Amino acid sequence: MKKNDIIELKIEDIGVGGEGIGHLDGMAFFVKDAIPGDEIRARITKLKKNYGYARLEELIVSSKDRVEPKCALHKRCGGCQIQAMSVSAQLAYKANKVRNNLIRIGGFAPEFVDEIMEPVVGMDEPYRYRNKAQFPIGTDHEGNPVAGFYAARTHSIIPVTDCLLGVEQNREILDLVLAYMKEHQVSAYDETTGKGLVRHVLIRYGFTTKEIMVCLVINGRSLPGADQLVEHLTAISGMKSISVNINQENTNVILGTQTNCIWGEPYITDYIHLRDCSDDCFALTDTAVAFQISPQSFYQVNPLQTEKLYSLALEYAGLTGKECVWDLYCGIGTISLFLAQKAGKVYGVEIVPQAIEDAKRNAALNGITNAQFFVGKAEEVLPEFYAKGDMSHPDVIVVDPPRKGCDSACLETMLKMKPERIVYVSCDSATLARDLRILCDGGYELKRVRPVDQFGHTVHVETVCLLSKKP
Ligand code: SAH
Repeated sequence: MKKNDIIELKIEDIGVGGEGIGHLDGMAFFVKDAIPGDEIRARITKLKKNYGYARLEELIVSSKDRVEPKCALHKRCGGCQIQAMSVSAQLAYKANKVRNNLIRIGGFAPEFVDEIMEPVVGMDEPYRYRNKAQFPIGTDHEGNPVAGFYAARTHSIIPVTDCLLGVEQNREILDLVLAYMKEHQVSAYDETTGKGLVRHVLIRYGFTTKEIMVCLVINGRSLPGADQLVEHLTAISGMKSISVNINQENTNVILGTQTNCIWGEPYITDYIHLRDCSDDCFALTDTAVAFQISPQSFYQVNPLQTEKLYSLALEYAGLTGKECVWDLYCGIGTISLFLAQKAGKVYGVEIVPQAIEDAKRNAALNGITNAQFFVGKAEEVLPEFYAKGDMSHPDVIVVDPPRKGCDSACLETMLKMKPERIVYVSCDSATLARDLRILCDGGYELKRVRPVDQFGHTVHVETVCLLSKKP
């Protein structure tokens, strides 16, 4: 076998980046845009010792799970990886990924995992689910400003103002921004030269309030003709906040540190409702938490699935109103403020100071007085409290760590604190499985596991788990 050879493969699995995986002569081949069940002809593009990469040349037999992707750009855009799979196949793949990691990495017996795993929670509407979009702005060959997405694994912009994962309002807003740029000869930023003004347009939409925020990220101090842009944008129903964010650094980081509101409020408000988890309808309840979201705030991008995920986390926490609860990796306090309504006292820990400021403000906004927040690393703050003997025997600990999972010092302290229950919310089932093994070896039993699809058409899956202290 050598580079450029044409090979035939039967795709059996999906790799971490969404590529189809097939085997030939003991070698694994990764093929972008191929899905399990496909039989394909592919051209080898790279060969390593026991694996390689190949480019899909021809579908010989199409997988029964293959569908026509709704987005014409899905192959070129880096955003979605598995849009060519039916939604039911995507969900089955995600559930299976969690199951496999629990078995392979967590060392749990397959029969046990099958007994406790609950069905994956899918979306009611698998498109238009994102409440936030950040479109890079560039210049096309004719010198016109364009908005779009970076092509997979590159920084070249594919012009598109309507991504099917985002809300419909994005297109109108971007068209207005681009027309304004043309009219006022406002330049787009060019990454290679570091010149040009407009870098990104960030749009946020409150799903429950229908409030809209637009923030232009600029490589300068001000926006020429801003009044006219404001005039155009404010004609859009729901517009609440228009701002410019100043980013004059040569960096891939989208936002700079300074944001100036040029019209309306510096934030939009949105609500996260508690859902009824007693059946699979996840009906809305009257309990809701309000959040003020500024351009810089972290806020879950799929608000409807977040409601289901956090409602499950709350149900797993089994609160009666008296409990002392730690919420580690609490971000802006989304889970903490949910928990606070059903617990005696909640302590949130988060590494980003700005997020803790948001959490405190949001607690006050909702009249929640039994939640307290601390800035710091979970693996440092928790051991400090344990050593002091303060709040060192909580009833419940909730964790929602980033992809790398919990630090071992954090897990060790959790075990020493001996809460009755631990609720683990995870965005990476591999590190989840690793951490669950440590907790189970340390005296806990895995009781419930439920995957939730927060990011349709991508390979990501969230999981919520309940552990309880062994008697
Ligand atoms: N539960 C929150 C956010 C979860 S995302 C929400 O729903 O909004 C994970 C969070 O962990 C991020 O806010 C990140 O800033 C924070 N984080 C990352 N490493 C951390 C650490 N070592 N200690 C505490 N927080 C950390």
